[in-house]
Amino acid sequence: MSNAVPSPTELLPEALRFTSPAPLVDIGANLTHESFTQDLEPTLTRARDAGVETLIITGTDIEHARQAVALSRQHDGLYATAGVHPHDASGWTPQVAAAMAELYRDPLVVAVGECGLDFNRNFSTPQQQEHAFEAQLALAADNGLPLFVHERDAGARMSSILRAWRDDVRQVVVHCFTADRETLHRYLDLDLHIGLTGWICDERRGHHLRELVADIPGNRLMVETDCPYLLPRNLPAKLKGRRHEPALLPWIVREIAHWRDESEAQLAASSSATAREFFALDTDRSQPGGGSD
Ligand SMILES: [Zn+2]
Repeated sequence: MSNAVPSPTELLPEALRFTSPAPLVDIGANLTHESFTQDLEPTLTRARDAGVETLIITGTDIEHARQAVALSRQHDGLYATAGVHPHDASGWTPQVAAAMAELYRDPLVVAVGECGLDFNRNFSTPQQQEHAFEAQLALAADNGLPLFVHERDAGARMSSILRAWRDDVRQVVVHCFTADRETLHRYLDLDLHIGLTGWICDERRGHHLRELVADIPGNRLMVETDCPYLLPRNLPAKLKGRRHEPALLPWIVREIAHWRDESEAQLAASSSATAREFFALDTDRSQPGGGSD
């Protein structure tokens, strides 16, 4: 996530509607953001029309996590994560931990997070961030849930913390990966998953990813919009300046597939299969013992 203020909503022009050749899973959609309150239904319809059939709604604090769960209850194909973003780590308390633990009993909550380390902005101190992050690692371990991680300018510290916890936590995805090749391989060596956004479409700061994305095995790579943030900067002119939303995910998949030298259909299929397995979407977690292998 970033602080960019999304632009007002408009309908996608007919000629610029993208359609995925295979069903997609958007693993990072901030649909509880206020910019979606006016048009959530049409946004979900546009996503489905584009082939984005499954959305993981990011929960970045207790309030947004509860909203994400409520949305997931109302709409098919929606699931929630629940965690505290590193920006808000200063607000981590035992009460927050208890409230999160309550949410993890809900079968619609499929991951702990968004949590992690952001040493780029340090809205909370690094010490506060590490404290909240390790507490959420413990919750992921206790609840048998995967972890949805945010990392910015903290690759070395992130790697060493995750190395210490790796055997206790089932699966970990570093969402919106933006770092360098060395950090990528540190993560892959730890058997982590990688989430890619439209950052790769950003000529100012994302083009280094073009040379890296082919290093990620298909069964470790998932895709996401991180909407309403991170609107791809190389969209056709008519779409510039609008709010980012899940219906634009096929555009990002096409770009990543190009730099991996594979077809859009291949990447759509592999990233969706990887996401369904990672978040155990096909496991009935409402049954005792379900999904906590
Ligand atoms: Zn993030």
